Amino acid sequence: MKCDKCSAPAVLFQKYSGLHLCKTHFFADVEKKIKREVRKEKIEGTLAIAFSGGKDSAVALSVLNDLFSHRGVDIIAISIDEGITGYRENALESAAILVAELGVRWEVASFEQHFGIRIDHVNERPCTVCGILRRSLLNRLAKAVGASTLATGHNLDDEAQTVQMNYLRGDIDRLLRLDHPAKEGLVRRVKPLKYVPEKEVALYAILKGIPINLDECRFSAGVFRAEVRDMLNELELKHPGTKYALVKGLERILQLTNRLPFELGQCTRCSEPAVGTLCQSCNVLDKLRSTSQDRAT
Ligand SMILES: [Zn+2]
Ligand SMILES: [Zn+2]
Repeated sequence: MKCDKCSAPAVLFQKYSGLHLCKTHFFADVEKKIKREVRKEKIEGTLAIAFSGGKDSAVALSVLNDLFSHRGVDIIAISIDEGITGYRENALESAAILVAELGVRWEVASFEQHFGIRIDHVNERPCTVCGILRRSLLNRLAKAVGASTLATGHNLDDEAQTVQMNYLRGDIDRLLRLDHPAKEGLVRRVKPLKYVPEKEVALYAILKGIPINLDECRFSAGVFRAEVRDMLNELELKHPGTKYALVKGLERILQLTNRLPFELGQCTRCSEPAVGTLCQSCNVLDKLRSTSQDRAT
């Protein structure tokens, strides 16, 4: 098969666009989607990139570094050690290779240091706990390094799943908070890979030779997310463009609702942003402490 934009051999067929693309045109297509997404916000000062060492954040770090490091923007990769024996050590090893290659500043923080827990020791819903604590610690770290913006590696599949899960749960409040504008105490987020399908992120990393860690975390991402993922993959096969439509549709809703402001106060304990009196991470840490006490008595 030949590329539809030149005559070079195609490396990919995009069912949703109907295009065969060669390596060069595929790279250009991914980079165009990333640029379009980050141009929505003005990136200046310090840009922190949440960097796990996996394919998504490695591609985000590599492309954003190419785009911004020559424009006077300081790039800082930030990684979290959740305390998952075996998995995180490997991921941090491949992370170290890429940051050395790119020559970017790198900060690592652990749950153990900041919250006194390891995900290894969490028995109930480790993925939920991990997600809440990770979001919170990333925000704290981004503030600590003086970042104006925090980029995360969520790809089109992640986003479509999250949007669909919230629709199916009827959790419209959470849906409207997915793409929040900058708020007091909350570092502005960008998701450069938001419109790049997961498979294309992987292909981009492989063809570019970006070092990535392929290990999967041994805590599965949750049954409901896996069901929604399978459902969306099936729909995407039959109706190419479904995932894009879901994510784009939410963007339109947010425009129409003019991004309804949501109330955000301060956590009475740690002063991080909170919807109630305590922030999500303090809430989840309280629950962990009370369940471990129950077990002790
Ligand atoms: Zn081409
Ligand atoms: Zn708190």
